[in-house]
Amino acid sequence: MTAALHGTARSSAEHMELLRGMLEEQFAVHTARLTQLTVYARRPRHAGHDPRTLDALTASVRQQIAETAQALRRMSEGTYGLCADCHRPLPLGRLRAIPHATHCTRCERRR
Ligand SMILES: [Zn+2]
Repeated sequence: MTAALHGTARSSAEHMELLRGMLEEQFAVHTARLTQLTVYARRPRHAGHDPRTLDALTASVRQQIAETAQALRRMSEGTYGLCADCHRPLPLGRLRAIPHATHCTRCERRR
């Protein structure tokens, strides 16, 4: 699906739709993963998984779901794609790589 993002003559609205699609797909994938982890955690002996690994994976997936949901909310609020610190637009290449990015690389490095 990233191949769809390589067009150069796309409008920013088209880019936004592609990024929204990526975020929605991420959200669905992470949610399915969380469901799977929850099922493992409830099985006897954690279905053979190490409980601490399951806990760590669950925390990580919850974090990813939160970041994705926040990015989708910023889209609906019209603040998506702006750095949370310097308020400059994030480069499209950064958003393609990390659709839920909240900071430009310069501010990210300073954090
Ligand atoms: Zn910045």
